[in-house]
Amino acid sequence: MAASTFETPKLLNDTATLPIPPIKPGAMQGVQSFIAGDKIQEQLGYPGELLPNWKERAIERMGELLQKYRGLQVFLDACVHCGACTDKCHYYLGTADPNNMPVARQELLRKVYRRYFTFAGKYFPKLVGAIDLTEEVLDQWYSYFYQCSECRRCSVYCPYGIDTAEITMAAREIMDSVGRGQKYSNEILGKLHRIGNNLGLPGPALEDTLAGLEEDILADTGVPVRLPIDQKGAEVLLVTPSADFFSEPHVESLIGYAKVFHAAGISWTLSSTASEAGNFGLFIGSYENMRKAALRIREAALELGVKRVVVGECGHAWRVAYSFWNTLTGVGAGAEDPFGKMLQQQLDHRYKQPSHICEVTWDLIQKGAIKLDKSANDHRIVTFHDSCNVARASRMGDIPGGQFIIPREIIKACCNHFYDMAPETIYEGTYCCGGGGGLLTDDLMEVRVKGALPRMQALKQVVDEKKVNFMATICAICKAQFTKVLPYYGFPMSMVGGVHQLVSTAIQLGTNE
Ligand code: SF4
Ligand code: SF4
Repeated sequence: MAASTFETPKLLNDTATLPIPPIKPGAMQGVQSFIAGDKIQEQLGYPGELLPNWKERAIERMGELLQKYRGLQVFLDACVHCGACTDKCHYYLGTADPNNMPVARQELLRKVYRRYFTFAGKYFPKLVGAIDLTEEVLDQWYSYFYQCSECRRCSVYCPYGIDTAEITMAAREIMDSVGRGQKYSNEILGKLHRIGNNLGLPGPALEDTLAGLEEDILADTGVPVRLPIDQKGAEVLLVTPSADFFSEPHVESLIGYAKVFHAAGISWTLSSTASEAGNFGLFIGSYENMRKAALRIREAALELGVKRVVVGECGHAWRVAYSFWNTLTGVGAGAEDPFGKMLQQQLDHRYKQPSHICEVTWDLIQKGAIKLDKSANDHRIVTFHDSCNVARASRMGDIPGGQFIIPREIIKACCNHFYDMAPETIYEGTYCCGGGGGLLTDDLMEVRVKGALPRMQALKQVVDEKKVNFMATICAICKAQFTKVLPYYGFPMSMVGGVHQLVSTAIQLGTNE
């Protein structure tokens, strides 16, 4: 861990939650991620640098978004400043900067909206708190809309359901459209468009990696478990975050998925052209880029002739798949274009399209199609971190709250020792890991470490009281973020892992016909 230029907040004893901090105005004003250069911007169809007429274009783009997304206008009009959201953001709790209160973050855009799009704001700006769009305002937008992980926790507590994440996405899209983009998200999205995954890992390198993993599993278990790629006619196309191919602990979950398919006798494949479940188009609020990224998956599904599309452990990917793939791609009902309809005919609708890997595994456990030895995980005392995009923006299975229940049931089927963290810090009230929504970059390490504080506090309580030594999660970003920030709070980085890492340890290969 490199020496920090900031102080890591202190955790308290005997509590799962922290007191609301006294405000420190401007504490995080100068903390910004790197701005994207011209090549990165242009490959996404955005101006390479700040346009000379950026102000007019920003207002014009805001108007376009207000027309296109009616919810945005409702969110900008509906706030009554009741204050219910002020202490609900992990970035406020961790940094004490009042601009990280959700309502204040919204106000950064709302004040400008009022000035140019409301009668009162045009003629009596001071009376209604409307302000001109200036370079200083743009700079504030760039700071604070990249200190929001679009986790939607604040919206759970807002009596009007105002979704700050939607406002953040709109602000980022406006900034991109005038030439002020974020290097981290936009560079990754460009790699996804060009090569097929966020890492820029070409097909042959991916094949080598998978072959190496097959050898490792064989050496470990004595069973020839395959990780197939580009297998035409396979039943399942698995689309998983590319971090699963080489990052620790992500790769342990990939091995877990492979063992599940092997043990259940399901033919499956990965795709070299759609080797990424992640879709940063969501983070930057760009429907066009989100669609372009998602279409790779449709093309691969059609090309390979699969019957089912299954998504690996990735929070925002599951949100995009669950909420948007139907109309974006035709995976799920709703597509109107010919290729979407073709895919609809090809897929087997006895299964959910798409399915989450946890739905697949839980279904197989219930049917007795895979066998698990819980005692294999007896060295682990496990808790579960609900990932924001799964918890608050999607579902699983056929029961309300399936997205909370199914991963926990899988864990309990694999482990003898499981303890939840405090109720107010899990389920729909879960705290973000601190690194989601395009913040998983070292430029924002201070934001990430401080934003992780509420989760770390809740974790400390179960570590102290229950001796928890493993925090499972089903999100690639959560895994990467926790691996980095756990040591700042005195926890080992190895204590985070995937739900399918636990499955991988417990599964009994070769016990089924
Ligand atoms: S990070 Fe989450 S809680 Fe904070 S403002 Fe953004 S959406 Fe709301
Ligand atoms: S809870 Fe909703 S209405 Fe109340 S201040 Fe926050 S965003 Fe506005």
